[in-house]
Amino acid sequence: MSVLEVKNLHVSIEDKEILKGVNLTMKTGEIHAIMGPNGTGKSTLSAAIMGHPSYTVTEGEILLDGQDVLEMAVDERARAGLFLAVQYPSEIAGITNAEFMRAAINARKPEDDKISVMNFIKKLDDKMAVLDMPEEMAERYLNEGFSGGEKKRNEILQLMMIEPTFAILDEIDSGLDIDALKVVSKGVNAMRSENFGALIITHYQRLLNYVTPDVVHVMMNGIIVKTGGAELAKRLEAEGYKGIRDELGLDI
Ligand code: ADP
Ligand code: MG
Ligand code: MG
Repeated sequence: MSVLEVKNLHVSIEDKEILKGVNLTMKTGEIHAIMGPNGTGKSTLSAAIMGHPSYTVTEGEILLDGQDVLEMAVDERARAGLFLAVQYPSEIAGITNAEFMRAAINARKPEDDKISVMNFIKKLDDKMAVLDMPEEMAERYLNEGFSGGEKKRNEILQLMMIEPTFAILDEIDSGLDIDALKVVSKGVNAMRSENFGALIITHYQRLLNYVTPDVVHVMMNGIIVKTGGAELAKRLEAEGYKGIRDELGLDI
C-alpha cells in the first residue's frame, strides 16, 4: 500500500496565498474527490503536488510513502508514481502520442525491464478499445488538433498505459458530453485496484454518479472545510455550496 500525504500545505501564486493549510491523506485502493466552487484552489493543489514552477509552497509538506515530494523535480515525481491529468492538456508537436506513452512507461522501469514494442502495442490496443478510441489517435502528435473530448479521453488512455500509483484528475469531466463522460468513467473504474489511488477534482457531482468516490472533500477559500463519503457529493448537488457554508457558519 502507498500513501500520499498533504500536510498543512500553503501555496502562493505571485505572493498571493491561495492554499491556506490543506491536509489530505490518500491511500492506494481509494478514490477521493475534491469538490468546491471555482477559484477556491483545487487546481492550485494539483499543480503544487506535481511541481508546477509558478506555484510556491510557503509552508507544509507533501509526502509519498514518507518521501519528500517537494524535494523532487517534476519528472522525478512522475517516476515516483504521480500522474496529473490537467484541465487543459498542452499540444506537443513532433512526438506522437504512442511515443510519449512508451517513453513514460519506460521511464518508470529499470534498464533491464523495458516494455517491448510488441507488448506495448498489445497493451495500447487493449486500452484504446476500452476507451472507444480510433487507432490513428496513437500515431498523431500529442494532443495536436485533438478536440476537447479527445484530449480528455487521451488523458485517460495515458493513465491506463502509465499505471501511476496516484492520479490527480483535474476537471477531467468539464466539457464532456454524456457518452464521453461514460467512457472516461469506464477508464477510471478499470484502474481501480489495491495498487492505485485517484484524486478526482470536479465542480459537478455528475462524474461521481459513474465513479463512486470513497471519500469526498469540500474545498473553500484554500482549505478543506469538510470531508465525508459519497453522500456528501449528493448533498452538494441538492443544496449547493450554500448548505455547507450555512452549516459551518462560513462567510466565504
Ligand atoms: P479552482 O481550480 O478551484 O477553480 P485555482 O486553483 O485555479 O482554483 O485558482 C485559485 C485562485 O488562484 C483563484 O483566485 C485564481 O484567480 C488564482 N490564480 C490561479 N492562477 C493564477 C495565476 N497564474 N496568477 C494569479 N492568480 C492565479
Ligand atoms: Mg477553475
Ligand atoms: Mg481548477
